[in-house]
Amino acid sequence: MMERKITQNADGTLRVPDKVVIPFIVGDGIGPDIWRAAVRVFDAAVEKAYHGVRRITWKEVLAGEKAFQLTGEWLPQETINLLQEYLVGIKGPLTTPIGGGIRSLNVAIRKALDLYVCQRPTRWFEGVPSPVRYPEYVNMVIFRENTEDIYTGIEFPAHSEEGTRLKEFLQREMAVDYDLTPDTAIGIKTVSENGSKRLVRAAIEHAIRNDLPSVTLVHKGNIMKYTEGTFKSWGYDVAETEFAARTYTWRQWEKTKAANGEHEANDELKHAERKGKVIIKDIIADNFLQQILLNPRDYAVIATLNLNGDYISDALAAIVGGIGIAPGANINYQTGHAVFEATHGTAPRFADTDSMNPSSVILSGAMLFEYIGWNEVASLITDALQMTILQQTVTVDFFDHMTAGKLLKTSEFATAIIDKI
Ligand code: NAD
Repeated sequence: MMERKITQNADGTLRVPDKVVIPFIVGDGIGPDIWRAAVRVFDAAVEKAYHGVRRITWKEVLAGEKAFQLTGEWLPQETINLLQEYLVGIKGPLTTPIGGGIRSLNVAIRKALDLYVCQRPTRWFEGVPSPVRYPEYVNMVIFRENTEDIYTGIEFPAHSEEGTRLKEFLQREMAVDYDLTPDTAIGIKTVSENGSKRLVRAAIEHAIRNDLPSVTLVHKGNIMKYTEGTFKSWGYDVAETEFAARTYTWRQWEKTKAANGEHEANDELKHAERKGKVIIKDIIADNFLQQILLNPRDYAVIATLNLNGDYISDALAAIVGGIGIAPGANINYQTGHAVFEATHGTAPRFADTDSMNPSSVILSGAMLFEYIGWNEVASLITDALQMTILQQTVTVDFFDHMTAGKLLKTSEFATAIIDKI
């Protein structure tokens, strides 16, 4: 049989054959346990939705420890080529090799496919134990910039020759007024106009497509003025120039206030809200981390830089049940390339214990099905997952925080979900 691939139409939409091949990376540590569980759920939901008319053939591609054992390489070029070719893939968590040329396999995959959006929806499923009183108030989608910031790995150790040269350059040529002593390690933070704008563009398009009320630019621009601060300005620029008819920005509010007073600015804002425009606002990152606990209902779509996004997604995940139930995707909305993945790591202590929560991969799969337009499958999966949790049949991460309930293994939890599909 000819292998059927997802392709991109000229208008940027995806063409998805009914019998489609999707590559997967099984992942390291707990990866095999949670993948095995998740794929059974995916196949059951596809079968239930389409009765064999549509079907997925999962094609294994190698990365991580398994790749290293079989090929001597952590991330074979063939894997990148196949992810390129098949457009949409899914992966388990990958270990970060100690030593060698690769800093992080995940970062390498994101870089190779230029997956500039790390998209992480955070919502609460009823019955999941939470440390806050109203976890249902958290319903946000994070758009984390995925290719820049201090993640580029341009950094030099203390006492190193390169570090010393860079520090000398900064002090001599750039008049940096700071005592860069030999024991100072140094790193470089990069934030580009293109990188910022394409990320914010994707966030605004998501808000418009899903009828969401706001996009919040989260930044630390009060301190890092030309990187984080300009990220905010570029974000506002995108809204005001490319989405003028569909958005209203806090920067416009400020301008109106300065010109015509606060009363008129407030009228303008209310009018925009009534017309269903997406409100584009911003907040400083530290304040945001308290606001997600105090006033989470004020936020819908979050657009932020790489490091902020990393912290924010774990903080939000904790509110709705932890990283065991936190899905994610790395996407290039221009080329259509996407790799869906759980947001957690390999949890190596729990490898092969069949005990961890597969929900993160299962919900990443649901995101994949939505991405390829198989929405019926996504709904079947999330509804069945919700019912399973409501029956208090859960894995250990939830069970430990519940007063009643039944403890299930990873594989048993998948079976419980499948029973409800
Ligand atoms: P981790 O996310 O692997 O684990 C932290 C803790 O979270 C675990 O000890 C466990 O208690 C809990 N946890 C994780 N997944 C869970 C699940 N599915 N169900 C229930 N509980 C779960 O973080 P770590 O220990 O800092 O990292 C281990 C390795 O994973 C490192 O090599 C790291 O580089 C790598 N990593 C990979 C990814 C990725 O592939 N996207 C992301 C983060 C870390």
